[in-house]
Amino acid sequence: MALLQISEPGQSTNPHEHRLAAGIDLGTTNSLIASVKSGKAEILNDEQGSDTLPSVVRYTANKIIVGTDAKSAAAKDPLNTISSVKRYMGRGLTDIKELGGRRPYEFAEGDSAVPRIRTVAGDVSPIEVSAEILKSLKSRAEAALGDSLTGVVITVPAYFDDAQRQATKDAGKLAGLNVLRLLNEPTAAAVAYGLDKKAEGVIAVYDLGGGTFDISILRLHKGVFEVMATAGDTTLGGDDFDYVIAKWIMQQAGINETEKDISHHQMRRLMRDACAAKETLSNMDSAELNIELDDGSNWSGHLTLDVFNELITLLVQKTLLPCRRALRDAGIDASEIKSVVMVGGSTRVPQVRDKVADFFQQQPLTDINPDTVVSMCAAIQADVLVGNKSGDDLLLLDVIPLSLGLETMGGLVEKVISRNTTIPVARAQDFTTFKDGQTAMSIHALQGERELVSDCRSLGRFTLHDIPSMVAGAARIRITFQVDADGLLSVTAREETTGVESGIEVKPSYGLTDTEIETMLRDSIEHAEDDVTARMLREQQVEAERVLEALQAALADDGGLLNAAERKQIDVAANKLSELSNGNELRAIKDAITELDKAATEFVARRMDGSIKKALAGHNVNEF
Ligand code: ADP
Ligand code: MG
Repeated sequence: MALLQISEPGQSTNPHEHRLAAGIDLGTTNSLIASVKSGKAEILNDEQGSDTLPSVVRYTANKIIVGTDAKSAAAKDPLNTISSVKRYMGRGLTDIKELGGRRPYEFAEGDSAVPRIRTVAGDVSPIEVSAEILKSLKSRAEAALGDSLTGVVITVPAYFDDAQRQATKDAGKLAGLNVLRLLNEPTAAAVAYGLDKKAEGVIAVYDLGGGTFDISILRLHKGVFEVMATAGDTTLGGDDFDYVIAKWIMQQAGINETEKDISHHQMRRLMRDACAAKETLSNMDSAELNIELDDGSNWSGHLTLDVFNELITLLVQKTLLPCRRALRDAGIDASEIKSVVMVGGSTRVPQVRDKVADFFQQQPLTDINPDTVVSMCAAIQADVLVGNKSGDDLLLLDVIPLSLGLETMGGLVEKVISRNTTIPVARAQDFTTFKDGQTAMSIHALQGERELVSDCRSLGRFTLHDIPSMVAGAARIRITFQVDADGLLSVTAREETTGVESGIEVKPSYGLTDTEIETMLRDSIEHAEDDVTARMLREQQVEAERVLEALQAALADDGGLLNAAERKQIDVAANKLSELSNGNELRAIKDAITELDKAATEFVARRMDGSIKKALAGHNVNEF
């Protein structure tokens, strides 16, 4: 008799069943969903035949509207119509305030880490708004495919930090989707272009969308894409082109109000018309403008390509800074780039193409639709991940944008994983206790390039308890940093002799802005020398603390070994060190430690004798 077959947990009992999977490009401006049908990735359209879904959500008292209808209502209901919500994903209220002026909606005041936008339907978080976009894509896909989705892959900008990635995953969960993994958009694009099938070499992916800019330097090596470096700006995109045009129109039309005073309606209309003019200028030399003003009048005029080019010069130039930085991080020259892939609707702007061609000294690849290129690859990846295809098709590696490390004594940072390390990655390092009998250890994970904790970004803290009581420096605590394929960090600590363990998944309340990342990188270079001095001072201060700590413990146990005069001499030296250890005289602290050592020499010797006698008590000398 044949043996009964049992399927693996979570696997289908029908081996031939085709599981439905989809790839989602959750864009700042537009979102798309694609799926592999009969072996080919295809964009799934809505019932009206439209492929892109504007990433806009409108809240009314009794229903939530997503997409085109929400977008067209934006001008008349600006406060309840939320667009570009991706800019706020995983961000705190302070980060959002720094993002700048174009924020028609109101944020609920409060100290909650997750900001909430005021709407007539109540306060909503960016995660909830994104979940509405995802729900809409989900039902579009299920209508098109005729069944429910087993799993999805969602793409994110390569520059998204931990909090932003986590927020994206949470939005997927909230929408009832099984998020198989997150995939970096530029990496997906390079694969969609089939560059993985071409000869080995270095590729740049330039992605300029509506609200984000990403540059990735990828190396194809032995059939695997390795992301050598990424850089970008999560607050730069086609929206900014619209904005400079809108300001230009205001000037031309004699609207004198400052941006703060202008009505939300007027600003929305201006942005909409500016965007239309911009898109026209990708194919024409001039665009007509007919603007409806708040006072009921109209303003007509036209915007030429030349004027438009002038207006956006600085913005386009601004994208080249991260390009330069990415090349530097990758340690290569622009001339070594084999191909440049263009992604995102804004790469249709002629000046963008020209400047990119100049920068990389070659014509960029533009023949695949820059809007759909990312979601197509995500669909293929999802298809592999649900098990419809063998898994060796894709192997995509990414890098972490900033170093990850731990706080050590004295407020110093010990780097565990350095920036631009490819992920997934796990690195372990051993640490020890600072005090005799220390039974707990506070573990503080940080992100940044600087030497001092105060100059880096705190990611999370936890405490390892139940360390067996030992003398300082005897315990061996292995701390492991692990960054998974989605770029999420978990930190675990384990005391090696007892196996006691503790850990956290790092989910910071909100992440860093690009400006902060850039500032942190710049600071780390500028302050390299200061940092070394500061580090030496802190190390000396920590050493002083350690010496004083040990002395106090010894005096408490064996103070009786000293006469009053001897005790006084030690106390004087200890007090002097204690005073100096808070100051910043490196040399003086060092000297005071040496002095205290000298003053305590005799005491240390007597203690040693004492402990040898104690150890010998009850034993036969021959035993030793
Ligand atoms: P995201 O990935 O941020 O959602 P997309 O890749 O969909 O963005 O790009 C959206 C941006 O591309 C918008 O700013 C839009 O105005 C711009 N865009 C789309 N088509 C064109 C075009 N033909 N010319 C210039 N810009 C365009
Ligand atoms: Mg995009």
